[in-house]
Amino acid sequence: MRTSIATVSLSGNLTEKLKAIAAAGYTAVEIFEADFLSYAGTARDLRNLCADLGVKIAAWQPFRDFEGMTGKARAQCFHLARAKFDLMQEVGTDLMLICSNVSPASVGGIDRAAADFRELGDLAQSRGLRVGYEALAWGRHVSDYRDAWEVVRRANHPSIGLILDSFHLFARGLTVDAITAIPGDRIFLVQLADAPKLHLDSLSWSRHFRCFPGQGGLDVDGFMAAVAATGYEGYYSHEIFNDQFRAGSAPRTALDGMRSLIWLEDKLTSENSDIVRGPKLPPPANCRGVEFVEFAVDTEAGKRLGNLFAALGFRHSGRHVSKQVERWSQGAINLVINTERDGFAHSHHVTHGPGVCAIGMTVDNVADTMERAENLKAQSFRQPVAPGELEIPAIRGVGGSLLYFLEAKGPLAEVWDREFVATDAAETNAGLTRVDHINQSMLYDEMLSWGLFYTSIFNLSSAQQLDIADPSGLVQSQAIVSKDGAMRIALNGSMANRTLSARFLAEFFGAGVQHIAFETHDIFASVEAMRANGLDFLHIPANYYDDLEARYDLAPEVAKRLRDNQILYDRDGDGEFFQIYTRAFDDRFFFEVVERRNYNGFGAANAPIRLAAQSREARDVGVPQPVHQAS
Ligand code: MG
Ligand code: MG
Repeated sequence: MRTSIATVSLSGNLTEKLKAIAAAGYTAVEIFEADFLSYAGTARDLRNLCADLGVKIAAWQPFRDFEGMTGKARAQCFHLARAKFDLMQEVGTDLMLICSNVSPASVGGIDRAAADFRELGDLAQSRGLRVGYEALAWGRHVSDYRDAWEVVRRANHPSIGLILDSFHLFARGLTVDAITAIPGDRIFLVQLADAPKLHLDSLSWSRHFRCFPGQGGLDVDGFMAAVAATGYEGYYSHEIFNDQFRAGSAPRTALDGMRSLIWLEDKLTSENSDIVRGPKLPPPANCRGVEFVEFAVDTEAGKRLGNLFAALGFRHSGRHVSKQVERWSQGAINLVINTERDGFAHSHHVTHGPGVCAIGMTVDNVADTMERAENLKAQSFRQPVAPGELEIPAIRGVGGSLLYFLEAKGPLAEVWDREFVATDAAETNAGLTRVDHINQSMLYDEMLSWGLFYTSIFNLSSAQQLDIADPSGLVQSQAIVSKDGAMRIALNGSMANRTLSARFLAEFFGAGVQHIAFETHDIFASVEAMRANGLDFLHIPANYYDDLEARYDLAPEVAKRLRDNQILYDRDGDGEFFQIYTRAFDDRFFFEVVERRNYNGFGAANAPIRLAAQSREARDVGVPQPVHQAS
């Protein structure tokens, strides 16, 4: 696939954008004219810069309000076009993008527009240039790609072709069917953008919410398949106007764009092998669950964290053969406390303070997972291992933490036996069975990025994004889940800088795991056991329980147990959800215990209650919460 991206998609100045685009691996770029107007160099400088970086200039864009003008205005348009042709020749690109006219001064008429393009086509042809015509969803006379194609068809000029843009097509609610009737060589450029399904006017929607394919809800696959069927062989170019991208880092956005294109090409290759023939990647990795969560802490915090794990019913089950690393287990959950003074966990601790530095995930095939991840531009990670230790393949995840990959059978299933010596600690249990979900906090403008990371590499899909009220602002929450519920990740992002999610980022120096939820099949028994171990939970106001009792026909003894134990409750159809939160460890991260009864959500209705309770505690104390010794 020939890949390109419009400079408007990225933050920064033109030089920064071009460097990020080249580094991500795009072969070409569309120069957005406003980026050139604010560029300090000359057209020659730009040409040389692109040549040095090894990116071709696929197009110059946009030229606005051209067709259907009359009198002086029309003459002025041709005058301007000549000036832009001069510039394009200096810069070294042969394609000009003209988007459909939005000017009230323009006169409609397909034949009039076709005649304008035919005349412009002669001018372009004499210089070896081409012009592509794109229907804007809000064009005054032409807003449908089928009409734009009719203009191009009637212009009947080899230098005049069509530009297709997935966003404009779907913004008008059009289908892709008519694309297959257009000869592939008459299409000069294909622009790709996705978008979440929002009920906004198409201009605001387009200018603020476009995103890379895979990050939104439009049928970009169907669009691509239709384009591929025409035999089109030109560039696929990202043209994304998005506030998150313009606030974020250009290198990361460019990398996300390449990830999106590679993912899309792979998906199309596997689904439409007759028309799309790209390189074949291993399939999206099936996540079978979280095998372990590793915490990087110092020795003092490690002791207190161990006490907290003990109070949650975990057993100190193993010691690493050569390192300051402890294993704590319960059900299928393994928590690892790493207090080493060098290696990855230590550097993570130095950078972020106490917190989760790695997650171990069980997948069907680790080699395939690594191959897919590396092809999708994930960064693999290796560190030296001592003789006898396993080298567990890993990639960099959220906030520089690691995602290790394990298998249910074979050598990679033997990590506990090979690297840990069992302790003789007595059996304990509070009924926790597995990791239910992991919640990661990040800047709002990183959410789309990490969403695509998870959904492109793994067989995971995004659920609806939710807005959750924090006492100090809104928090966006995006759930990413596997069909069978074996893997659930919740991404939280906040733009307001005083929300709990934002304060976490400030204190953690970046994105990371904010809470981990464990599953139980009997929350009342689990909480009773944990309270007997001296564990204290987040305090929930009585008003919440008054409301619950009024809202649902709860059996009186259930209502009382919820209230007495500070357990939160939610219902969805006939599904029920029970959840309880520990108090925050050093104001940094916390744990949740959940019981699901035919319920697939995360208790979103309770999130504002929880956030308010946590804000209250964070304000109240400002000192670490006491963690009770296990009795
Ligand atoms: Mg466009
Ligand atoms: Mg949760």
